Amino acid sequence: MKCRACGGEAAVRLEYANLQLCREDFLRFFERRVARTIKRYRMLPRGAKVVVALSGGKDSSALLHVLWRLRSALGVEVEALTVDLGIGGYSELYVGAARALCARLGVPLRVVSLESEYGFTVDDVARRVRRAVCSACGTIKRYVLNREARRAGGYALATGHNLDDTLAAVLQAYVRGDVGALSKLGPALPPGGGFVARVKPLIETPEGDVRLYAEYAGIEYVRVKCPYSRGATSYTYKAALDLLEREHPGIKFQMLRSFLDRLQPALAGARPSAEQLDKCTVCGEPSRSPVCQFCRIRRQIGVRLREHG
Ligand code: SF4
Ligand code: ZN
Repeated sequence: MKCRACGGEAAVRLEYANLQLCREDFLRFFERRVARTIKRYRMLPRGAKVVVALSGGKDSSALLHVLWRLRSALGVEVEALTVDLGIGGYSELYVGAARALCARLGVPLRVVSLESEYGFTVDDVARRVRRAVCSACGTIKRYVLNREARRAGGYALATGHNLDDTLAAVLQAYVRGDVGALSKLGPALPPGGGFVARVKPLIETPEGDVRLYAEYAGIEYVRVKCPYSRGATSYTYKAALDLLEREHPGIKFQMLRSFLDRLQPALAGARPSAEQLDKCTVCGEPSRSPVCQFCRIRRQIGVRLREHG
């Protein structure tokens, strides 16, 4: 099997593109595709500071690695942000992996501890809040990442959502009939109303390619799963997508294109605009109700709320 780019020994075959590549050319192919995605959706204007939400897992670690390598070509500043959620036996592992990767690359990293900055942990949520942990944790992460990225002067928060994550989320939202969620599953959301821009530079990259990139680039990431992730339905959806892809190579890309080019424009009206948001009366962050969901979670745990400013 020969590499299509250099004629050397190929290491990987990408069925969806009918393409064989050696390790080096795969890394280049991967990085070029991410650069193309960023340009196609005008994710990052030149001069912007992009804050990468680094969870220590393969996707966000690979994303940080790529953006760091592309930073001069894109003309952007890159920083990393990790939230220590206080999940016993897990947080230490991923915070350690994030620190190690940033030290190796030389990327500035800020680690925000939920416990010291906000007075509680996700373990507290699991013990005391009668709501699915992952749903509360998602609210917490979105809140803290946005707030801290804005405080750091970031234009955009970049997350490691890949093609498979996006399609799984689309299918889940479709099953629930959640039109609002579907309208927000695109590659980029603009900044405004207290939100930094949110961008997904890996949205056109299959999960398997991210895994290979992490391996070939020598990225150490956390392979242990969060103890609360058991039974997450996204795994079932991803398995179904893999089955479809095996039978019909390229169908994942086709689904993404149909979703972004045909369905999303039709859903634009369902996307709540930043102007429709008020401010949370407790913390001042953008909110749809007088007290934001994050502050409500804190209240349920019994954290004494005070203005964070
Ligand atoms: Fe949070 Fe759930 Fe992810 Fe664990 S698996 S980090 S609880 S969202
Ligand atoms: Zn609030």
